[in-house]
Amino acid sequence: MQMQGRALNILIIGGGIAGCCAAIALGQAGHRVRIVEKQSEWRFQSSGIFVYANGLESLGKLGLLDDILAAGFAVPDGRNAYYDHRGRPIVETFYPTADGGTIPAILGIKRAEMHRVMAARVAALGVPISLGTTVTNLQEQTDGITAVLSDGSNEMVDLVVGADGLRSATRAMIGIDVAPRYTGVGVWRSVHRRPPELTDKIMMMGPAKRFGIMPISDDRLYTFGTMAEPAGSYYAPADWPQLMRARFAEFEGPAAPFLAELNAESEVLYTAVEEVALPLHWHRGRVQLIGDAAHASTPFMGQGGAMAMEDAVVLAEALAAVPDLEAALTAFGQARFPVCEFVQNVSRAVGEDGARETSGDEEARHAALRETAQAKVDGFYMRLAELRASARF
Ligand SMILES: Cc1cc2nc3c(=O)[nH]c(=O)nc-3n(C[C@H](O)[C@H](O)[C@H](O)COP(=O)(O)OP(=O)(O)OC[C@H]3O[C@@H](n4cnc5c(N)ncnc54)[C@H](O)[C@@H]3O)c2cc1C
Repeated sequence: MQMQGRALNILIIGGGIAGCCAAIALGQAGHRVRIVEKQSEWRFQSSGIFVYANGLESLGKLGLLDDILAAGFAVPDGRNAYYDHRGRPIVETFYPTADGGTIPAILGIKRAEMHRVMAARVAALGVPISLGTTVTNLQEQTDGITAVLSDGSNEMVDLVVGADGLRSATRAMIGIDVAPRYTGVGVWRSVHRRPPELTDKIMMMGPAKRFGIMPISDDRLYTFGTMAEPAGSYYAPADWPQLMRARFAEFEGPAAPFLAELNAESEVLYTAVEEVALPLHWHRGRVQLIGDAAHASTPFMGQGGAMAMEDAVVLAEALAAVPDLEAALTAFGQARFPVCEFVQNVSRAVGEDGARETSGDEEARHAALRETAQAKVDGFYMRLAELRASARF
């Protein structure tokens, strides 16, 4: 299909990070966009999220940066302080800023706050959202694609964007038979009041366990603990606070007061970590997958959301730069695949290394961390910047 600068009718399935950012990027580019979101109340998970400088750059392109910075907490100097699980300092690392230092290195933000900012921009652009609605069937036609919605209506559009997350029904509907893979790791997250003096990102290194602390606003922080969990484990949400407290009980120092205050009223979330690694193509006909639907990553580099944001920006660029729709979608996938694959591979390796440790090699491990931690941060962000730079239109 030749586009030649014309405004497309685009249906976005899923109103998460990828779907909201795609609606903003495509709406800003002049396309007519609509979102269908299966939740009847548009809600985001509890807990916080890290947005590193590359993600903040994408949010800047979407016109969201100032509001996101106001709603979150930018860690001073991008500092990350490593401790052992007894609370003894190991080393500090510093994450890179962007845009000559005007974009902070790392921001923590409550997911619900990030969503509030995104949703406000979606609304300001006049993008309609149908809550409690999904797509039950997609039928390719010669001059468009018909989406059958769960409310019984039909809609003929030029492009469908599947932004419906890790368990994407869109992915299955277009015949891509790839199920999420459980990684063997569980993540326990909790939200707390932030003491004013706690402003660093903190990573505590226990043998085969990690416990992190991240400020997310002027008065809140979130914690996250990662460790191996058997496949298929189910824990009742009511038990999450006491289970989190018990699992990370050996963590002292900065973790101790937050673990001690976990109780039945606490805001705790358990997630069994899965990933989705799709080979190209990420589209079939007029249906394009983005975000976790195409490339859900493990969380160890804190980059999955940033990849979803950048997908949105680059998809809009590809549609503007490449006059034929099929060629634009192919070019989009080819541009984004190496970036997302790199993030997934590094993140997976970090998670696997952490889960293999034993208490016996603790001192050697901490010595190695002192020697290599900053070089690893620099190496990752340099390579990420190179890959991202060659993935633009
Ligand atoms: C423990 C953990 C920690 C993480 N920490 C970070 C971090 O610090 N920084 C970071 O950048 N990333 C992080 N991530 C990754 C990040 O959360 C994801 O990459 C991001 O949420 C992906 O956004 P998405 O919009 O693609 O998918 P989702 O956030 O899953 O959104 C999908 C949306 O689609 C809707 N939906 C689903 N199915 C349908 C359907 N059939 N029809 C209509 N709507 C549908 C859902 O309700 C949802 O609103 C973390 C992930 C995990 C698991």
